[in-house]
Amino acid sequence: MTAAAALTDVRHVPFWLDGPAPDAGPALAGPTSADLTVVGAGYTGLWAALLAKEADPGRDVLLLEARTAGWAASGRNGGFCSASLTHGVRNGLDRFPGEMATLERLGRENLDGIEKAVADHGIDCSFERTGELTVATAPWQADDLRELPALAKAVGDHVEWLDRDAVRAKVDSPTYLGGVLDRDGVAMLDPARLARGLRAACLRLGVRIHENTPVQALEDGGAGVGLRTPYGRVSARRVALGTNAFPPLLRRLSSYVVPVWDYALVTEPLSPEQRQAVGWADRHGLAHAGNLFHYYRVTDDWRILWGGYDAVYHYGGRTDDRLDRNPETFLRLAGHFQATFPQLDGLRFTHAWGGVIDTCSRFSAFWGSARGGRVAYAAGYTGLGVGATRFAGQVLLDLLAGEATERTALEMVRRRPLPFPPEPVRWAGIELTRRGAAKADARGGRRGPWLRTLDAVGLGFDS
Ligand SMILES: Cc1cc2nc3c(=O)[nH]c(=O)nc-3n(C[C@H](O)[C@H](O)[C@H](O)COP(=O)(O)OP(=O)(O)OC[C@H]3O[C@@H](n4cnc5c(N)ncnc54)[C@H](O)[C@@H]3O)c2cc1C
Repeated sequence: MTAAAALTDVRHVPFWLDGPAPDAGPALAGPTSADLTVVGAGYTGLWAALLAKEADPGRDVLLLEARTAGWAASGRNGGFCSASLTHGVRNGLDRFPGEMATLERLGRENLDGIEKAVADHGIDCSFERTGELTVATAPWQADDLRELPALAKAVGDHVEWLDRDAVRAKVDSPTYLGGVLDRDGVAMLDPARLARGLRAACLRLGVRIHENTPVQALEDGGAGVGLRTPYGRVSARRVALGTNAFPPLLRRLSSYVVPVWDYALVTEPLSPEQRQAVGWADRHGLAHAGNLFHYYRVTDDWRILWGGYDAVYHYGGRTDDRLDRNPETFLRLAGHFQATFPQLDGLRFTHAWGGVIDTCSRFSAFWGSARGGRVAYAAGYTGLGVGATRFAGQVLLDLLAGEATERTALEMVRRRPLPFPPEPVRWAGIELTRRGAAKADARGGRRGPWLRTLDAVGLGFDS
């Protein structure tokens, strides 16, 4: 079956959101006040609100969401919940070499905290701590991966190299040459059910949630901060911003974050014969080791989610819903899937969608505050925020409390990434990087002059 034929029946809706949704909370009408107002009900905002209430049940917490909780990246991602706060050990070592051991420990504690919160709040999100297998499909990738166990060990982690036969015994593809297995640093979960479960937990603890309530502006609010919405106004003592890749409420953020589109497909459920042909008994998440890489995993009902590779930036940073559909990328993804699993020939895709990722120049979250410390923000996860958003929520609360903690002392928290240049240089730079990454993959990993320049000035990416 051709890639095009396998796509003919797809629904252009995120697999995870394709079903009944909880009733939206009421839109804000009229004036109100709150001790803490959180903007954005993706994971960043939901964790910040939940953690604030857990720490102080008497605190008045208000959560404002432009549409409905979890509709954006948080409800449509791959569901890889990683302990890594730095988008991988190599990226972390490149940027924060002195504190990587601490960051890795905090990341593991954070993943344990998510597992505990899921259990404590009874969040039914199919949380499975199955780990992740990163596979090499070219000899240069295998050489790179062989170095990872030693790098991980030096920062207190454990991952193991598996040769070709060991990898293929786990998940079978003729393209695999070896891989590295991280047994418990990553969990697989249903992203939309995590977002909805966090929302329900927030409501149970007394967080007031207003959906369909875009915050239009931050205003002066006497001793606090004012937030303007279409039909209401909030007077807040403190404000936490979790608006990810969307147009920011603080102008300064627009030079640090660019919206980049990531796309995914989901297949129909595998038959028992197809499952036998591919293996996957341990249900690990998988990722390729190339510069442009796929991530893929199985769902509860044994479909395969297959995403990544293309990372598309539109001139001017458009975040239009119509960009969710990208037939050219869907075809490319389907073709790569078929080349990886030729034994699944005939398998069709049922869902195809896209979502926007908040990319920053260091490929991992950053924080900051404004208005005399009364407003704090977190953004920049660059495609690895399912786990890191909980840590980010804790940092937001530390910053708003003005408290010095182990987290706020981190260089990662104190230092911001380099800003992106304005258009048209921004678009040209991102496009050159994408093309350079594709070329390096095609040339045995050899990085051309543009990528080498980025590496030299500390802007290269290596997860
Ligand atoms: C296709 C795809 C696959 C991904 N796969 C993975 C993965 O497998 N693992 C992983 O770790 N990460 C993955 N990610 C990234 C991950 O989903 C994000 O890092 C994470 O969800 C970010 O959460 P967030 O709350 O910061 O942002 P979002 O989920 O985008 O939430 C931001 C919210 O803020 C709201 N908002 C914005 N502006 C305003 C305003 N002015 N007023 C009110 N509300 C506002 C928006 O409506 C939105 O609901 C993926 C992302 C995509 C798109």
